[in-house]
Amino acid sequence: MDWKGIVVHHSASHDVSANEIERWHKQRNFRTIGYHFVIRQSGALEPGRVFDQAGAHKRGYNASHLGICLTGRLHKHPPTLEQVTGLVRLTWGLMERFDIEPENIIKHHEQCPGKMFPWDFFMSEIKEGY
Ligand SMILES: [Zn+2]
Repeated sequence: MDWKGIVVHHSASHDVSANEIERWHKQRNFRTIGYHFVIRQSGALEPGRVFDQAGAHKRGYNASHLGICLTGRLHKHPPTLEQVTGLVRLTWGLMERFDIEPENIIKHHEQCPGKMFPWDFFMSEIKEGY
């Protein structure tokens, strides 16, 4: 896969494991979990779908953009500092590995990853380290 970008999501749920999200997605007849990575509230990074498979997380972007999901109800509470730090580090690594430009790091949509996610802060961190 020639990954051009990254889409950031939240789970809109409690702090779930990648295995639990995989079960939910299989119930919706996905082959496996739709995201490539899950970042828990502890900051732990859990692998999802493998890199050589298109994701199932944003219509029209699944073959070009990797999917990362932060656990939590980020419409109600902010992500933990550990999640944001983990997301910044993971994003930097993926940008370097796949030659991804900052403008191709995007939200799923206006409500995802949730209004409490500090998008402007996240993007300023990304551009600073880029
Ligand atoms: Zn989403």
